Amino acid sequence: MAINPPLFPDHQTRQHSEAHLSHVLEMVRQRTGGRSVAPDIDLDAFRRALAEKTFDRPEELDTLINWTIESLKHGMVQMTHPGCFGLFNPSPSFAAECADRIASAFNPQICVWSHAPVAVEIEKHVIAHIAQRAGLPAGSGGHFTSGGAEANNTALICALSAASPDYAEQGARAFAGQPRLYASAESHLAWLKIAHMNGIGRTAVRLIATDGSGRMDQDALAQTIKTDITAGDVPVMIAATAGTTNAGMVDPLNACADIAKRHSLWYHIDAAWGGALIASPKYRAVLDGLSRADSITIDAHKWFATTMGAGMFLTRKTAILAQAFRVSTDYMPDSNVVDDYYVTSVQWSRRFVGLRLFLSLGAAGWDGYARHMENAIQLMEHLITRLTALGWTHENASSMAVGCFTPPKGADPVEVIVERVVQSGKAWVSVARFEGRAVLRACVTNGHSTMADIDILVDEITKS
Ligand SMILES: *Cc1c(COP(=O)(O)O)cnc(C)c1O
Repeated sequence: MAINPPLFPDHQTRQHSEAHLSHVLEMVRQRTGGRSVAPDIDLDAFRRALAEKTFDRPEELDTLINWTIESLKHGMVQMTHPGCFGLFNPSPSFAAECADRIASAFNPQICVWSHAPVAVEIEKHVIAHIAQRAGLPAGSGGHFTSGGAEANNTALICALSAASPDYAEQGARAFAGQPRLYASAESHLAWLKIAHMNGIGRTAVRLIATDGSGRMDQDALAQTIKTDITAGDVPVMIAATAGTTNAGMVDPLNACADIAKRHSLWYHIDAAWGGALIASPKYRAVLDGLSRADSITIDAHKWFATTMGAGMFLTRKTAILAQAFRVSTDYMPDSNVVDDYYVTSVQWSRRFVGLRLFLSLGAAGWDGYARHMENAIQLMEHLITRLTALGWTHENASSMAVGCFTPPKGADPVEVIVERVVQSGKAWVSVARFEGRAVLRACVTNGHSTMADIDILVDEITKS
């Protein structure tokens, strides 16, 4: 018997809890359809119950687990509900759930290769395959991140390090003028925080106008860079978006590559959600130009449907990572491996998140993922057909599984309609802005959703 059974129970207790947990979770999964997609919990009652949990007396783990699951069943937007047409957060693949369980059971520390060589090599194998599938040359690499924001942060650090060998030691002072990065006005605004965190200031981000259909205006980009150079600023990076968060639009990737090349800038492509289309032979041409990037962000926890907290940073210029994140300490194990994650990435202690994509991709194969993407796109096409037939306008010319819609004249404003849909508990969509207009945004994020779920959504949207 372990000394502290609540923390480290014996074999029998563990087996009992495991069986109970998987039973309860399976019940949750099977009955999602009958519950509200949106939170419908009495939050005051919940807070009172939470306040009573003061940890003064131990409680049974099973009791705590039941309480947590019951609360979560009604206290969050249900990603696993087939009526959830939400932001990019998926209903996770079962393989990814299994991966989390395995990673938790072994709890490998993967920041150094020598501590967990098998885990590190599984991750590197996955990263190499994804990089290759994205069209990057052999020898490209990268690593898993907590998500797209960390991957984009890594890109800026690489860009700054590549632009000046002194950046690592001197920070922004290494530059003769204000460093600048360029992303579209429809890009993911984590860029502002990232610029802030790297000490070059939020105004370093030039948000380039879009062309009226959600794509970066390439002429405005070229012109802004020229003007900045004339003013003595130091352009360091173009960050194109392949699959904008609101509308799934793809910036002109080849034109951006040409401009980056002309000025010797780091070229990053943020394909956090849309990058998953590399899986589909039918749709991958949407990402034409992706292979020209110096670095790419793709989230596993969006369209690849792993559990949350799994992004990827991919780069053809792997040597810069070792420059940018180098550090030596006397408490880390000696290692001849120069590419240990703790000296090539933002994180130090690391979770084995790459296993989620390894198991998911392994179990589905690229073909299985292609079907997952293509099915989502087909459902979106069905939604577009249904809504346009009812007088709605489809605003975003994206081939991805996200739609932005504005209602027919005389209908309620988008905000009112979306609120009504969410309140119904039968479907979940959101309000977004596309090219300055308020739109109803719907994204197929759940591999269990069907045409019938789209029809339910349309019913809720058109009820008045
Ligand atoms: C979601 C998203 C991000 C941020 O990624 P996180 O995984 O939420 O950190 C960045 N860029 C784009 C285009 C996104 O869609």
